[in-house]
Amino acid sequence: MTEPYTPRVVPLLDQRSAALPTPAAAFTSDTRRAADGLLLDTRQRPLRDLRISVTDRCNFRCNYCMPKEIFDKNYSYLPHAALLSFEEITRIAKVFVAHGVQKIRLTGGEPLLRKNIERLIEQLSALRTLEGRALDLTLTTNGSLLARKARALKAAGLQRVTVSLDGLDDAIFRSMNDVDFPVADVLTGIEAARDAGLGPIKINMVVKRGTNEHQILPMARRFMGTGMVLRFIEYMDVGVTNGWRMNEVLPSSEVVKLIHTELPLVQLEPSQPGETAERWGYANAAGQHDQAAGEIGVISSVTQAFCGDCNRARLSTEGKLFLCLFASQGYDLRSLVRADAADADLTSAVAHIWAGRADRYSELRSAMAPDAGSGRRRVEMSYIGG
Ligand code: SAM
Ligand code: SF4
Ligand code: SF4
Repeated sequence: MTEPYTPRVVPLLDQRSAALPTPAAAFTSDTRRAADGLLLDTRQRPLRDLRISVTDRCNFRCNYCMPKEIFDKNYSYLPHAALLSFEEITRIAKVFVAHGVQKIRLTGGEPLLRKNIERLIEQLSALRTLEGRALDLTLTTNGSLLARKARALKAAGLQRVTVSLDGLDDAIFRSMNDVDFPVADVLTGIEAARDAGLGPIKINMVVKRGTNEHQILPMARRFMGTGMVLRFIEYMDVGVTNGWRMNEVLPSSEVVKLIHTELPLVQLEPSQPGETAERWGYANAAGQHDQAAGEIGVISSVTQAFCGDCNRARLSTEGKLFLCLFASQGYDLRSLVRADAADADLTSAVAHIWAGRADRYSELRSAMAPDAGSGRRRVEMSYIGG
């Protein structure tokens, strides 16, 4: 039976203008440090991973991220002057690297839409970790422009890419991206990334119950044995525009169970602390991990909180620092940079912000009633980056 149509009211607040005061106080001894000198937050978590959103625009309208009815021709995106320049991004990134960041992921919106993104990659790839190593420099993309750009990205110093792909069925994929983009072109982009040496490639599939769960097995079969790691992401309550409901979340445990019935799996150890994905390897006849067949990952941000070792910070397109994907406000670093703050002040501000971090939204949500967080004020994924 069809349910009567009820118009959806979206409490869209423009969180982009709101900012928390940025501490510019001098660096004090109360800032927690681990034995190795690394900065710690209030829950003893170090700062290791920085995600940088380089644009709030996208050529797709995935309904779980930028639904067409909100992100239409009347939507006001950030003006160019509001965006951090490549030089500003690199300056801020350098401060984070000095605080222990080892991995930088460029995201958006669609990062490949940012003009001359290769120039930013060149600048970031010149940075070195505290140990003197190159950064783990990666980018998340919808793949639509990869065929054209993969070689230039590699030449600029990008190490690898994560490509989002929600299914292999062309009709389902076109309806999920909602701009009628064909799946074949994303697959061509993935091949181009592989040929350019942008690996190991990860493939992200957001699973929405009732929309694409029957694409789980075809996707697993398609990427098994290719050296690419397919990761299934639970549909999350990010932002306020996607009308998230708990009953559209397919728990990762069910994804694993489903794949295991056809392609036996064994659980693998996390490869590093703070890793978002739980790893499962394809098993051989003896029940051991078959390295050649490879592995999958599941990211259970809704059903299994992993805030305990979350070491990620996010820099928005206009230079606000967010300490959690579900935060409602960020700290304005752009104003510090544009006020010609000295490096020491910027370093001190970041140290203070991280030292005061207590965020653990997923853990707290687990204690709430289903859907309880759905009306809460939060920034959009396309603004803060995934
Ligand atoms: N446009 C690029 C892309 O799609 O890969 C990068 C930005 S996108 C916001 C980053 C990641 O967030 C993508 O893998 C996307 O599938 C994921 N994402 C967006 N909205 C989501 C949601 N509501 N739940 C789970 N994942 C989501
Ligand atoms: Fe665009 Fe990525 Fe969001 Fe899809 S998930 S609308 S591709 S930013
Ligand atoms: Fe990290 Fe926030 Fe996600 Fe928890 S909810 S894992 S603190 S980003």
